[in-house]
Amino acid sequence: MTKFVYGFSEGNKDLRDLLGGKGANLAEMTNIGLPVPPGFTITTEACRAYLDSGHQPEGLAEEIATHLDALEASMGRKLGEPGDPLLVSVRSGAAFSMPGMMETVLNVGLNDASVDGLSRQAGGNDRFAWDSYRRLIQMFGKTVCDVPGDEFEHAIDAAKRAKGSEDDLDLDAGDLRGLVDEYKAIFAKHTGREFPQDPKEQLDLAIRAVFESWNADRAVLYRRQERIPTDLGTAVNVVAMVFGNLGSDSGTGVAFTRDPASGAQGVYGDYLANAQGEDVVAGIRNTVPLQDLERLDKASYDDLIRIMATLEEHYKDLCDIEFTIERGKLWMLQTRVGKRTAAAAFIIAGQLVDEGVIDLDEALHRVNGAQLGQLMFPRFDLSGRPSQLTKGVGASPGAAVGRVVFDALTAKEKAAAGDDVILVRRETNPDDLPGMIAAQGILTSRGGKTSHAAVVARGMGKTCVCGADEIEVDVKGKRFTVAGKTIAEGDVISVDGTTGKIYLGEVPVQPSEVVRYFEGTLDPAQAGDALVKAVHRVMSHADSRRRLAVRANSDTGVDSARARRFGAQGIGLCRTEHMFLGDRRELVERLILAATPDEREAALAELLPLQRADFAEIFREMDGLPVTIRLIDPPLHEFLPSLEELAVHVAVAHERGQDVGRDEKLLAAVRRMHEQNPMLGLRGVRLGLVIPGLFAMQVRAIVEAAVLRAGEGGTPKPEIMVPLVGAVQELETVRTEAERIIAEVVADSGVEVLIGTMIEVPRAALTAGQIAEAAQFFSFGTNDLTQMSWGFSRDDVEGAFFWRYLELGIFGISPFESIDRDGVGRLVRIAVDEGRRARPDLKLGVCGEHGGDPDSVHFFHDVGLDYVSCSPFRVPIARLEAGRAAC
Ligand code: PEP
Ligand code: MG
Repeated sequence: MTKFVYGFSEGNKDLRDLLGGKGANLAEMTNIGLPVPPGFTITTEACRAYLDSGHQPEGLAEEIATHLDALEASMGRKLGEPGDPLLVSVRSGAAFSMPGMMETVLNVGLNDASVDGLSRQAGGNDRFAWDSYRRLIQMFGKTVCDVPGDEFEHAIDAAKRAKGSEDDLDLDAGDLRGLVDEYKAIFAKHTGREFPQDPKEQLDLAIRAVFESWNADRAVLYRRQERIPTDLGTAVNVVAMVFGNLGSDSGTGVAFTRDPASGAQGVYGDYLANAQGEDVVAGIRNTVPLQDLERLDKASYDDLIRIMATLEEHYKDLCDIEFTIERGKLWMLQTRVGKRTAAAAFIIAGQLVDEGVIDLDEALHRVNGAQLGQLMFPRFDLSGRPSQLTKGVGASPGAAVGRVVFDALTAKEKAAAGDDVILVRRETNPDDLPGMIAAQGILTSRGGKTSHAAVVARGMGKTCVCGADEIEVDVKGKRFTVAGKTIAEGDVISVDGTTGKIYLGEVPVQPSEVVRYFEGTLDPAQAGDALVKAVHRVMSHADSRRRLAVRANSDTGVDSARARRFGAQGIGLCRTEHMFLGDRRELVERLILAATPDEREAALAELLPLQRADFAEIFREMDGLPVTIRLIDPPLHEFLPSLEELAVHVAVAHERGQDVGRDEKLLAAVRRMHEQNPMLGLRGVRLGLVIPGLFAMQVRAIVEAAVLRAGEGGTPKPEIMVPLVGAVQELETVRTEAERIIAEVVADSGVEVLIGTMIEVPRAALTAGQIAEAAQFFSFGTNDLTQMSWGFSRDDVEGAFFWRYLELGIFGISPFESIDRDGVGRLVRIAVDEGRRARPDLKLGVCGEHGGDPDSVHFFHDVGLDYVSCSPFRVPIARLEAGRAAC
């Protein structure tokens, strides 16, 4: 039969899926001999069974009874026994930490009779006993029976007012006894029943309430935002109560084994004398720094320091803990590996290696690419102590400064006039998109990390803080108010998309030290900064461990040089269409409009030297490293004027009797090339097959540039890539022509040219075995592959409806951001397997956006690619994640 309940001595820290984080760590601490009050954990499996069926699974009640008997025996007291009661806490604890999201009930077992017994246990401390009882009714009422919490708050506030005090410590036993009566009345009014006096019924109801809290709205929302699966359930911990509110020799506190902000070793935490756990969190009285405990209770302080050292040694990491001191006796109520800032994660990992606690492989697992990414954003320099207006959810990192505007149109106008602007809205919708594009940053007063504003801003890499709910936005009045201040259109604010903090005025922005290190302008050996040293160390190890090479997507010499400094081992995608813009657009127009082969060839002949020079520059910057150049991909009409605008222009010119000969010709071409679904139309390899000489010109420019470079003593390694192939015949046709040109141009220059294809149409993935016969390499274009697998237009959907998909949990993250392993990922696997089977030395890479996404990098490692390619800025992130994936 399934075991649903574990005594603390039966569990361990590796059972967190079953016992939740709290239960697993309480068990671990018990087993290493730390002072944990006795108790037991009801498993997440029991919770799932309860939630599935609506009632407790068979056998659970008996198991709870057995463990309660054992707990009573070990404490020498019975639950709620009038003369000498055992009291317990009932706490939730899921496998993933969900701070403040779920439920806790303390002092279970108290009733009208046992309150006197508790007083006697506490040496005749009536005040303590009645305070404990009123806390039980309040917590039980709120969390188990949904009684509105503020009714209890109002009652205690009124009692304090009557006493002429602000401090609940001034309420005496009589006041608290009166308050218990009031609380009971509130309870009865809202629940239609008396407060339950049977301790076992209290326990049973509290356990059910914790189970049910898994599906509370705020917990569901939190999980969605943090991408925690919905079907895990929570464990329930039933623990003998220890009391921090027995007098001045008692108290409660929280501590870190080292500073979670900087990683510095020392004593960090807060302590509150004569209080129970929730008082610290609720902030009803001011805590004192943990160091003060040394003066207040030296013996407990020394115990705590010793225990913290034991915990660090045992967990080999920074731990955070909750403790209670009951009359000079220290009890551990919780521990876990503590959360930390991105900088501290790197520094602590390095420190632990220095201290011989962990090795470098483990250090790599203690940090991640998302943290590295955070460290690469510019930061505000807060040394001038700017005035903080408020704080929201840091939804898209960065540091943005600008003048406040309240609508998209004004944002566009002011930005066009050269102003930096911050778009402030209650929430955004697709109509705000032009304003979001124009703004430096976005601030909303509503919505979380999956709101429209957050999703779109992240997609654009734009700084965004959302859900700053203290802000009152008055769009009509063009102002917002917060904390008694009014900020009007045109006022300057600074938005920190990492911390979510909003400052009044312009806060100076500092470039990231970590970027300076990657750029090569900060020598880690010289840097006074512990962070840069730690990053250098971890990155070096990642590079030594990773199997995946990391290339960059770049189409200019400048970007290529930067990518190389960031550690890129070549170019995985050079998009040649970017080379057809600006002044060259006219040449492309001539090519498209050519009426005869001669006209076309003349236009191509003019483009050839320009392209050759572009490629030569990139080969120079990437000398000795592979450079994958993709033949032109987008629909040609993207290089022509818009149909609507041109039609209007021609009509007006006609009216005025002006000469419209050339424009009319252009209009006819634009009409001819107009497509309803251009992304599924004449683009990629199809262009090469339809426009004679276009691909040939590009191939010639690539190979001539390579030969030129070789002549200068360089080592160019060109790889020609054909986009949007769906059938091997398409590739073969292009390849035959390319090989002819290569043979002619390369001659005896020693240049070796590879020819390969992108895999970005599902059919290509499904026929990869055939396509590999004609390709020396595949590069997965996961942007198009995602677009075509899901049927989502990659240019439209993010702003239009993805926020809703995220809200509904249809996916946890946009499939354009992180690879959809089940669908698109399966196509990648098929293509890898079939491609390699047909051609064992087939080179395999990815150049879609996913190449720089941490989670996707792990997938590409697992699936056996040779390299990932991403934007230069993400190269370090991909290097780090590739290292983590390999060990
Ligand atoms: C892709 O489709 O993944 C790709 C890299 O090509 P592009 O983004 O240029 O369409
Ligand atoms: Mg593509």
